[in-house]
Amino acid sequence: MTHEIAVIPGDGIGREVTPAAVEVLEALPVDLEFVHAEAGDATLEETGEALPAETRAVAEEADATLFGAVGETAADVILPLREVVGSFANVRPARAYPGLDAVKPETDLVFIRENTEGVYSGIESEITEGVRTLTRVVTEEASREIAEYGFRYAQRNGYDDVTVAHKANVMRETDGLFLETAERVAEERDADYDTALMDALAMHLIIHPEDYGVVVCPNLAGDMLSDLAAGLVGGLGLLPSANIGHENALFEPVHGSAPDIAGQGVANPAAMLFSAAMLLEHLEYPDEAARLREAVEATLAEGPHTPDLGGDAGTEDVTAAVLDRL
Ligand code: ATP
Repeated sequence: MTHEIAVIPGDGIGREVTPAAVEVLEALPVDLEFVHAEAGDATLEETGEALPAETRAVAEEADATLFGAVGETAADVILPLREVVGSFANVRPARAYPGLDAVKPETDLVFIRENTEGVYSGIESEITEGVRTLTRVVTEEASREIAEYGFRYAQRNGYDDVTVAHKANVMRETDGLFLETAERVAEERDADYDTALMDALAMHLIIHPEDYGVVVCPNLAGDMLSDLAAGLVGGLGLLPSANIGHENALFEPVHGSAPDIAGQGVANPAAMLFSAAMLLEHLEYPDEAARLREAVEATLAEGPHTPDLGGDAGTEDVTAAVLDRL
């Protein structure tokens, strides 16, 4: 069965690393058809809209979306696109790779971040001058969905440790519901798990990341803890992510459009290529996903390297090396 993939490169280095991912996917024995669409700062300038209706439609109809990065218009593009794909889980692996300088080489973490509510509910208002409020929404349904996804992910991917991050001692109602729902899900599945206060967890992740595996988090905590873990493994050029929906999903590097290096052809394509591997896994091509991941990991171990990893190779050199290994 042919899977249709929406390809949205966006702005800046998104336009450099996304074609690398498409080239690599085309080299694998998988039945994918690519449909290209535009979004981002340049699209806003050209069309008056950062996310044109046709791009939304392409993402909606596709089986999965590969998304590069956008600049200033990120909130107008990626948040609605996550909604378009009905994403309830944001999956962010942070893994250290052999041969690279990581602060903590033993790091192998996967953050499973609730992706629809919490502090990012978007319900904000100014009640009077100088006083603004935000409504933090937590539902049992979304908490159950993310916990079930987290435990399933751990089981499928061989992680023994599942930690539920929360701050239920302070946000008693909202994180109380998140925590008690996750605990119920663990009991139903007869799964081992730990719980951790998210602030203490931030410290423990830095000191002993090897004690953790899958970390199930409310929205904001997942955003912050996964960026913190990025620092442990060698930076943004390496980290992929997936936004998983029931029928659809979107895969993107954690990094942004990196205007400081855009147009120079030196962006590290690894984060995007690992995102492409997550896409293959999602579409149930586990062997091809593993092949791609191994080829990228071997290239990270042996080079060539882009300047962010201390080398002087370009995006195309690294992509060519990955293609050779495939
Ligand atoms: P945006 O506004 O789009 O989020 P940004 O520069 O604020 O852009 P990132 O794009 O995430 O945020 O970049 C942060 C830093 O990490 C920049 O210095 C950038 O050059 C570097 N960086 C990010 N991604 C890569 C990559 N793939 N290869 C090399 N360096 C990268």
